[in-house]
Parts: sequence; C-alpha cells; structure tokens
Amino acid sequence: MEYPEEDYLMISGIQHFEFCRRQWALIHIEQQWADNYLTVSGELMHERAHDKDLTEKRGNTVITRAMRVFSKTLGISGECDVVEFVRNDKCGISIFGREGRYRVVPVEYKNGELKQADLLQLAAQAMCLEEMLCCEIPYGFMYYAKTRHREKIELTTALREQVLKDLLEMRKYYNDKYTPKVKKSKSCNACSLKDVCLPKLGTTPSARKYIDYMLSEES
Ligand code: SF4
Repeated sequence: MEYPEEDYLMISGIQHFEFCRRQWALIHIEQQWADNYLTVSGELMHERAHDKDLTEKRGNTVITRAMRVFSKTLGISGECDVVEFVRNDKCGISIFGREGRYRVVPVEYKNGELKQADLLQLAAQAMCLEEMLCCEIPYGFMYYAKTRHREKIELTTALREQVLKDLLEMRKYYNDKYTPKVKKSKSCNACSLKDVCLPKLGTTPSARKYIDYMLSEES
C-alpha cells in the first residue's frame, strides 16, 4: 500500500508523540503551536546544522544537509539534518556525477540528552532513505550539541518495529481526528503547549461527578 502525499505524517512528530500523545495531536491534528525556551533553542541549533552550503566533501565522505526524505509505504516525510555518504565500494550506492559507491549514514542533531524518541526519529529517517535509495542502513549517528559528541546508533529490528507501532497509532488518531485526553505527567512542566492543553482542567472532576457529589452532600 502507498499513501497519497496529502496524508503523509511528519517524521518530526514521532518525538512529540513519544513525549505525549496529546501534544502530538494538538500539533499535528489541531495545528496548534507554542514555543518555549526548549523549542526555540532546538530550532536555533537546527538552523546551524542546516547550513546553506547544502553539500560538501570531506575526505571520503560527501555531506548533505537538510535533505528532504519520504516514504510512500510508511506515509511519512521530513528532513534529515545531515546525511553522510561514506565511500564504500563494497556495499554502497552510486551517486550521480561521483566516482565509486557510498554507504548512506543519517545524522540527527539534538540539544538535550539521548532519548528513545530521538532514536525512533533517526530510525524513521533511515527507513525513508532505504526506500528512496534502495539500500540498507544498519546504523546512523546522534550528535548532541551540548556535549559536541556523536554516538553511533545501531538501527535494530526492535527500533524499527517501534517506529511502525507508533506510526500505526498515530495514523489511527489522525484518521479519527482524535486528540487524546490529558495525562498529567512530569513532561507537562517542560511542555510548550501547556497553556493550550490546560492539563489542570483535565484533572478536575466532570460536571456529573460534581453534581453527584453536591447532591450526596445535601442528602
Ligand atoms: S501539558 Fe502535559 S498533557 Fe498537555 S500536551 Fe503537554 S505534556 Fe501532554
């Protein structure tokens, strides 16, 4: 099965979804957005990663920035911060206008600590690249701006299965136009959408419970 382009979900939504289902639905179904210091610093970091010199060559590696990626079969699209094409004549792909063969390696830039959501986003990008370029991508890298360190990430079957599971759930909410109810957690403190979501209201009793309570008090 292939999804039409107008139904593609954003790859970046996976991190919102892992953070909080409701936050993802507010952004991707209800088109709500609000910034806080975390979203702004993330945005600034990505701007730096997406240098306007989109492609450069360093030694045996061709580096591409802000590469658009998509998968028709998964129904997702997005942008890779960096994709490295590392010369590997044994198991790489060919690139138009360049000699030799190259292994494809996505690199995702992040501000904070290593999180499962980041790994899923990287895996989803790799799955798109595999479909687009007919290749296998066994690993990628996470680059953490805070520590200026990059970590090699094996793109395991478990990681890929979790991506598929999340996408299935996201697709269901998206088709049903369903925004999950508030589930208060410590994530709410860091959530840029807390003034839109109003998590406190989600924990107040329903009108029926309130009336039942008041009537039982009077009796
Ligand atoms: S405030 Fe809490 S429940 Fe609401 S969207 Fe943010 S993280 Fe989710």
